[in-house]
Amino acid sequence: MPVCDISAPWSEFLQLAKQRCSATAFNNWLTPIRFIHGSDEEVVLEVPNIFVQEYLLSHFMTELCSFFPMRANGQPAISFVIAKKEKTPLTPAAYSQPGASSDSLPKDAHSREEQVSLNSNYRFDNYVEGPHNQFVKSAALGVAAHPGQSYNPLFIHGGVGLGKTHLLHSIGHYVHQHHKHLRVACITTEAFINSLVDHLRNKSISVMKQLYRSVDVLLVDDIPFLENRLGFEDEFILTFEALIHQKKQIVITSDKPPSALKLSKKMVTQMDWGLVAQLDVPNLETRVAILQLKAQLRGLHIPQNVAFFIAEHIDSNIRQLEGAVNRLSAHCRLLNQEVTEELVEKALHEMFRIAPRDKISVEQILKSVGAVFSVRVSDLKSSARTEEVALPRQVAMYLAREMVRESVTMLASAFGRKHSTLLHAHSAIDKRMRADEMLKRKIDMVCRNLPAG
Ligand code: ADP
Ligand code: MG
Repeated sequence: MPVCDISAPWSEFLQLAKQRCSATAFNNWLTPIRFIHGSDEEVVLEVPNIFVQEYLLSHFMTELCSFFPMRANGQPAISFVIAKKEKTPLTPAAYSQPGASSDSLPKDAHSREEQVSLNSNYRFDNYVEGPHNQFVKSAALGVAAHPGQSYNPLFIHGGVGLGKTHLLHSIGHYVHQHHKHLRVACITTEAFINSLVDHLRNKSISVMKQLYRSVDVLLVDDIPFLENRLGFEDEFILTFEALIHQKKQIVITSDKPPSALKLSKKMVTQMDWGLVAQLDVPNLETRVAILQLKAQLRGLHIPQNVAFFIAEHIDSNIRQLEGAVNRLSAHCRLLNQEVTEELVEKALHEMFRIAPRDKISVEQILKSVGAVFSVRVSDLKSSARTEEVALPRQVAMYLAREMVRESVTMLASAFGRKHSTLLHAHSAIDKRMRADEMLKRKIDMVCRNLPAG
């Protein structure tokens, strides 16, 4: 049985939550929460204010119930304490940098910029190498060892959850370690845009220009966020040109190659200029190695045959593989058991069956649900409350939450409903499926009818 510390469920929950919401939402709402104390009966969390507490409970009720002890009323046994004001500022914006290691921020920028703190787990030495990433990894290492001198810009692209951000942060850590005098800025494109908006509002745009154009290594995550944002694209191009001109290193990540980005020709040409490297899907052996590494980091022992079993089922997204380890670890702790194939079946059953897919949309789910339950899509979207429509609608909401990578609010609005309605539908179907074999089969059929993700 793995030895776990008492805050482990909270860290595991945070890992899962990180995958379920945007980086900004995570930083604004979840990072300010502090784990104070935990036992078999209850955990105590410190929140900066009541809004954060409500956000946590309304967005993550199901997950909280699986990670923490439960009360008789079905609620997670969590007590909240509100932090004293002087210790914890209240505005979400103030949390844009929680835990940022000061060495990841350029001087003078600490309080203003929404830069990302480098994730301390994302390093080259825990980035498992395989045929799918050998080329990209060596390009990243080359850039980190000789910033601005080899490939500039380095453009890394590949599907969701394949390790782009991990590599980007690894470059940042490596530069900090080996070139202490160099200034590194790591930023998501979303944060770059937010920062630009802030500076424009405060008429301090020259500060921002000066800031980004004076770094030695600029790491930009998720460039597709810039698509269809023309004004911001221009500012990005200027920053880009200024840095390249000074032989400063730029690394960019994207889920598609430069030519597929809906950006100006000028921008695409600039990205194509250096080295464009693609991350592929890892093969089975590499997936097993990654799974074992993640398990080891959590102090969890997974027998090799079980690791193969999991990696055979989860084959296209490493983040999901990591989610599987987190879930297993939680189950092991709750049930006080070793990892066996039986436990994996039990803990990961839903994950194997309904894995989030990259390109599934609410519309596709509605179509498939409509076909299997013999109802019209327009009825599913209507306000009709008859059982023939209400149940399939709830199923569609359940699947949307499980499979589409969007916030609950966005998903709910796709159904023309409030987010609490979607959460309710999700937990109702989740419960009903356990007892109703027929419904479970129908949902399986809906999943099989969806286009391959
Ligand atoms: P992306 O940015 O491509 O969506 P991430 O970099 O966030 O993906 O990776 C998702 C998860 O998978 C991270 O926790 C990361 O540590 C892990 N991961 C991806 N590739 C590897 C690898 N080769 N070795 C170890 N962990 C990996
Ligand atoms: Mg990423």
